[in-house]
Amino acid sequence: MNTQKKTGPAEWPSGPSSNSSPVADEAPRAWRLILLGGPGVGKGTQGELLSQRLGICHLSTGDLFRAAESRKESEQTPAMVEAMKYMRHGDLVPDSTVWDLVREQKDALLSREGFLLDGFPRTLVQAELLKQFLDDEKLALSAVVEYEMPKAEIVVRLSGRRMCRNCRSAFHVTWRPPKIEGVCDDCGGPLYQREDDNAASIAIRLEAYQHSTAPLIHFYKNLGLLTPIDALGSAEDVYARTLTALQARA
Ligand code: AMP
Repeated sequence: MNTQKKTGPAEWPSGPSSNSSPVADEAPRAWRLILLGGPGVGKGTQGELLSQRLGICHLSTGDLFRAAESRKESEQTPAMVEAMKYMRHGDLVPDSTVWDLVREQKDALLSREGFLLDGFPRTLVQAELLKQFLDDEKLALSAVVEYEMPKAEIVVRLSGRRMCRNCRSAFHVTWRPPKIEGVCDDCGGPLYQREDDNAASIAIRLEAYQHSTAPLIHFYKNLGLLTPIDALGSAEDVYARTLTALQARA
């Protein structure tokens, strides 16, 4: 998983299309962000860009599970082995297992610089657990960015997606093919297709999103944290939109 801090102290994000720095002279603030949105909307890519820009930890529960999968069998707990079965199928991992995993990253959640959560929370139970944890620590979320994309586009994106095993850059067989087939443009690492990027798992993941995760939109809207962003277009465009929206909340 990717929990390391990427850059220096948190600063105001001046993105590709943003050249103003309205709070540049103020003390750096801790950004505590959640990225919401269906599978394949680009949360991972945006999470990388934002966490680098803001100098905050990028916590992806999906990456955590994939990292656990690559551990030796003797190092895998029964809960992890169980979690991987859900994951391969496209189902959500049980809340208790997810919460155990997230609590192991307590230091990142308590980091003074802040954090960015990608793929967590995914159910109301997880959102309540996180809220209780942060309330107890007297920490507040800064914003919940909700990436919006039509279902048909998600299916096309996920079916053709290829990931880098090393740096996790995302490619697409049609829209963002790598210069050399099977090789990452960014780091030269090998590209692969995620086990759950097949038609059956995609359908299950979309259903899980609709049924279990979409209710979080109302949950965070009621808390005044929801920041909807159109996720169509290039990663740079979506990034610029996100920065503008966050800037408006600063
Ligand atoms: P992702 O990489 O975020 O698409 O996650 C891949 C898979 O990991 C999901 O389809 C779930 O099986 C599992 N997973 C990741 N995060 C969570 C979560 N917060 N709650 C339940 N399952 C999760």
